[in-house]
Amino acid sequence: MEEHCIFCKIVAKKIPAKIAYEDEHVLAFHDLHPQSPVHVLVIPKEHLTSLAHSTDAHIELLGRCLRAAAKLAAELGVAEKGYRTVINTGNDGGQSVHHLHVHLLAGRQHGWPPG
Ligand code: 5GP
Ligand code: ZN
Repeated sequence: MEEHCIFCKIVAKKIPAKIAYEDEHVLAFHDLHPQSPVHVLVIPKEHLTSLAHSTDAHIELLGRCLRAAAKLAAELGVAEKGYRTVINTGNDGGQSVHHLHVHLLAGRQHGWPPG
Protein backbone atom coordinates (compact mmCIF):
# COMPACT_ATOMS: atom_id res chain seq x y z
CA MET A 1 0.00 0.00 0.00
CA GLU A 2 1.42 3.35 -1.11
CA GLU A 3 0.21 6.03 1.24
CA HIS A 4 -0.61 8.65 -1.38
CA CYS A 5 -1.90 6.32 -4.08
CA ILE A 6 -5.61 6.77 -4.81
CA PHE A 7 -6.01 3.22 -6.18
CA CYS A 8 -4.32 1.72 -3.10
CA LYS A 9 -6.92 3.66 -1.09
CA ILE A 10 -9.68 2.09 -3.18
CA VAL A 11 -8.15 -1.36 -2.55
CA ALA A 12 -8.09 -0.59 1.19
CA LYS A 13 -11.74 0.61 0.93
CA LYS A 14 -10.63 3.97 2.32
CA ILE A 15 -12.34 5.71 -0.56
CA PRO A 16 -15.45 4.33 -2.25
CA ALA A 17 -15.68 2.84 -5.73
CA LYS A 18 -18.28 0.84 -7.60
CA ILE A 19 -16.63 -2.59 -7.43
CA ALA A 20 -17.16 -4.85 -10.45
CA TYR A 21 -14.89 -7.78 -9.55
CA GLU A 22 -12.66 -8.75 -6.66
CA ASP A 23 -10.45 -11.68 -5.78
CA GLU A 24 -7.35 -12.19 -3.66
CA HIS A 25 -5.02 -10.47 -6.12
CA VAL A 26 -7.13 -8.25 -8.36
CA LEU A 27 -9.76 -5.53 -7.98
CA ALA A 28 -11.95 -4.04 -10.72
CA PHE A 29 -14.13 -0.98 -10.38
CA HIS A 30 -16.06 1.38 -12.63
CA ASP A 31 -14.18 4.48 -13.82
CA LEU A 32 -15.29 7.75 -12.23
CA HIS A 33 -15.35 9.46 -15.66
CA PRO A 34 -16.41 6.76 -18.12
CA GLN A 35 -15.21 7.21 -21.71
CA SER A 36 -17.48 4.44 -23.03
CA PRO A 37 -20.80 2.90 -21.88
CA VAL A 38 -18.71 0.25 -20.11
CA HIS A 39 -15.49 1.58 -18.56
CA VAL A 40 -13.96 -0.54 -15.83
CA LEU A 41 -10.44 -0.37 -14.38
CA VAL A 42 -8.75 -3.65 -13.46
CA ILE A 43 -5.86 -3.27 -11.02
CA PRO A 44 -3.51 -5.49 -9.05
CA LYS A 45 -4.22 -5.11 -5.33
CA GLU A 46 -0.48 -4.86 -4.77
CA HIS A 47 0.88 -1.43 -5.69
CA LEU A 48 2.70 -1.48 -9.01
CA THR A 49 3.43 1.98 -10.41
CA SER A 50 3.23 1.14 -14.10
CA LEU A 51 3.96 -1.53 -16.68
CA ALA A 52 7.41 0.05 -16.99
CA HIS A 53 8.01 -0.75 -13.32
CA SER A 54 7.03 -4.40 -13.70
CA THR A 55 9.54 -7.24 -13.45
CA ASP A 56 9.37 -10.94 -14.19
CA ALA A 57 8.07 -11.29 -10.61
CA HIS A 58 4.84 -9.67 -11.85
CA ILE A 59 4.19 -12.03 -14.76
CA GLU A 60 1.49 -13.99 -12.96
CA LEU A 61 -0.16 -10.85 -11.56
CA LEU A 62 -0.26 -9.20 -14.99
CA GLY A 63 -1.87 -12.34 -16.39
CA ARG A 64 -4.43 -12.27 -13.59
CA CYS A 65 -5.36 -8.68 -14.48
CA LEU A 66 -5.90 -9.57 -18.14
CA ARG A 67 -7.92 -12.70 -17.30
CA ALA A 68 -10.04 -10.68 -14.88
CA ALA A 69 -10.72 -8.18 -17.69
CA ALA A 70 -11.75 -11.01 -20.03
CA LYS A 71 -14.00 -12.62 -17.40
CA LEU A 72 -15.58 -9.26 -16.59
CA ALA A 73 -16.22 -8.52 -20.27
CA ALA A 74 -18.03 -11.87 -20.54
CA GLU A 75 -19.97 -11.20 -17.34
CA LEU A 76 -20.96 -7.73 -18.51
CA GLY A 77 -22.19 -9.21 -21.80
CA VAL A 78 -19.79 -7.35 -24.07
CA ALA A 79 -17.39 -10.14 -25.05
CA GLU A 80 -19.24 -11.11 -28.21
CA LYS A 81 -19.38 -7.60 -29.67
CA GLY A 82 -15.86 -6.85 -28.49
CA TYR A 83 -14.03 -4.44 -26.30
CA ARG A 84 -10.86 -2.40 -25.95
CA THR A 85 -8.26 -3.05 -23.24
CA VAL A 86 -5.71 -0.30 -22.65
CA ILE A 87 -2.76 0.15 -20.30
CA ASN A 88 -1.47 3.72 -20.37
CA THR A 89 2.17 3.91 -19.29
CA GLY A 90 4.08 7.02 -18.31
CA ASN A 91 3.73 10.55 -19.62
CA ASP A 92 3.60 9.83 -23.36
CA GLY A 93 1.22 6.95 -22.68
CA GLY A 94 -1.18 9.34 -20.97
CA GLN A 95 -1.00 7.67 -17.55
CA SER A 96 -2.52 9.92 -14.88
CA VAL A 97 -2.84 7.50 -11.95
CA HIS A 98 0.44 5.86 -11.05
CA HIS A 99 -0.88 2.45 -10.01
CA LEU A 100 -1.03 0.08 -12.97
CA HIS A 101 -4.54 -0.37 -14.35
CA VAL A 102 -6.10 -2.04 -17.35
CA HIS A 103 -8.93 -0.01 -18.88
CA LEU A 104 -11.79 -2.21 -20.12
CA LEU A 105 -13.84 -0.16 -22.58
CA ALA A 106 -16.93 -1.44 -24.35
CA GLY A 107 -20.41 -0.62 -25.54
CA ARG A 108 -19.39 1.43 -28.59
CA GLN A 109 -17.04 1.19 -31.55
CA HIS A 110 -13.48 2.16 -30.59
CA GLY A 111 -11.33 3.79 -33.26
CA TRP A 112 -7.79 3.03 -34.33
CA PRO A 113 -5.29 4.59 -34.02
CA PRO A 114 -6.18 5.77 -30.52
CA GLY A 115 -5.82 9.47 -29.70
P1 5GP B 1 -5.01 6.80 -16.78
O1 5GP B 1 -5.21 8.17 -17.36
O2 5GP B 1 -3.99 6.82 -15.67
O3 5GP B 1 -4.77 5.72 -17.77
O4 5GP B 1 -6.41 6.40 -16.13
C1 5GP B 1 -6.81 6.78 -14.85
C2 5GP B 1 -8.29 6.60 -14.79
O5 5GP B 1 -8.68 6.60 -13.45
C3 5GP B 1 -9.10 7.71 -15.50
O6 5GP B 1 -9.92 7.13 -16.49
C4 5GP B 1 -9.87 8.36 -14.37
O7 5GP B 1 -11.17 8.74 -14.76
C5 5GP B 1 -9.91 7.25 -13.32
N1 5GP B 1 -9.97 7.72 -11.95
C6 5GP B 1 -9.17 8.66 -11.37
N2 5GP B 1 -9.47 8.79 -10.07
C7 5GP B 1 -10.47 7.92 -9.81
C8 5GP B 1 -11.21 7.59 -8.63
O8 5GP B 1 -10.99 8.14 -7.54
N3 5GP B 1 -12.16 6.63 -8.75
C9 5GP B 1 -12.43 5.99 -9.93
N4 5GP B 1 -13.40 5.07 -9.93
N5 5GP B 1 -11.75 6.28 -11.06
C10 5GP B 1 -10.79 7.22 -11.00
ZN1 ZN C 1 -1.21 2.05 -5.46
